[in-house]
Amino acid sequence: MKQLLAFIGFLFFIQGNGFTQKLYLLKPDRVFDGTAIYEGWSVLVQGEKIIAVGEPKNVEEAAKNLQTSGKSAPQIIDLKGCTLLPGFIEGHSHLFLHPYNETTWDDQVLKEARSLRTVRATLHAKQTLMAGFTTVRDLGTEGAEFDDVGLKQAINQGIIPGPRMVIATKALIATGSYAPKGFSPDIEVPQGAEEADGHDRLIQAVRRQIGKGADVVKIYADYRWGLMGDARPTFLVDEIKLIVETARSSGRPTIAHAGSTEGMRRAILGGCETLEHGDAGTPEIFSLMHEKGVALCPTLAAGDAVSQYRGWKKGIEPEPERIKNKRITFKQALDAGVTICFGGDVGVFSHGDNAREMEMMVDYGMKPLDVLRSATSVNANVFHLSQLGNVKTNFWADLVAVEGRPEEHISDVRKIKFVMKNGEIFRNEPSLSPKSAK
Ligand SMILES: [Zn+2]
Repeated sequence: MKQLLAFIGFLFFIQGNGFTQKLYLLKPDRVFDGTAIYEGWSVLVQGEKIIAVGEPKNVEEAAKNLQTSGKSAPQIIDLKGCTLLPGFIEGHSHLFLHPYNETTWDDQVLKEARSLRTVRATLHAKQTLMAGFTTVRDLGTEGAEFDDVGLKQAINQGIIPGPRMVIATKALIATGSYAPKGFSPDIEVPQGAEEADGHDRLIQAVRRQIGKGADVVKIYADYRWGLMGDARPTFLVDEIKLIVETARSSGRPTIAHAGSTEGMRRAILGGCETLEHGDAGTPEIFSLMHEKGVALCPTLAAGDAVSQYRGWKKGIEPEPERIKNKRITFKQALDAGVTICFGGDVGVFSHGDNAREMEMMVDYGMKPLDVLRSATSVNANVFHLSQLGNVKTNFWADLVAVEGRPEEHISDVRKIKFVMKNGEIFRNEPSLSPKSAK
């Protein structure tokens, strides 16, 4: 008993002295706080949180005040030549997929063991975090069942390095509408998402996915189904409304894969919060999105990658019709004032190469500063991540530093020098990493 009391006393001692809560003073050249650039700012991190941000003398004052109350001096992280930003938030990933030019989507779903896919996913998670993406909204395991639940838990328990995950588990499809397809109608082929239709089955499927771990419910509002090659709507508006209402009653949002004009319209009217892809959007559809506060996740990089996998020689041959149209509709969405989520559908192309979407957003007409906002504060807001995506006092200490000025040259986001998630340093190149020093 005496020993136990002594141990509890020791716990209070280390708590009170802050031994358990590491203190870091980050000194970059400038800070992008999620909205604007501030030259010369510093940031103080204690434990898992940002506790001060602003002019160096104010931040150092805050650190000194902590020292007088018994805490040790902060470890200084010198980030000279760097811009410090909130950890990037990938809006559309599939950690259980790898690029289709390595293995087709069909073969990944039908021929790869789930254990193989999980091993790959652990590597993808690490690559994503090391590239500065401290959060991902992972929109479906594509046939790997509920394996994103265990992946998320492994990351949260510190078993493997990886980003925070917002997960969709299996996603919902209308019967007959998804893939793999093209087989004899006489055989049943396992699908890349869960089939459900009608009142009771839809409610059950939504609740089952949520019960097993889905943070967000994903539906396919349209797809290329049957023998016709083009995307056609799947769920009825009433079915989408039912899914949205069922998910919302548990506090979860619903989002939609929607590429066709009618699929987009139904997803908007049904109450989905973001539309993924949106290739056949029109000025009318985009103004409806703006009016209803529905965000667009354009996945420019996925279309670009798939076109190249199909043989387009980018930079040598003229842009295919699909790419030309995507430039037009993306511009229409911007002109309509639609909220743009950064999300590339990474998995179609390499994990860790998430910045490709940022570069394409600039190439397709968005200002670099707006792209940085999209990948941080805008995504945090749209995805209901209230303590992320900003460098603000009392927010989670998810921070990245890149060499250069990404607000001028977007590709500077690739020059990652420092990655912190939840106050823990995962990458620190200018100085000796505290992790490796241990
Ligand atoms: Zn996707």
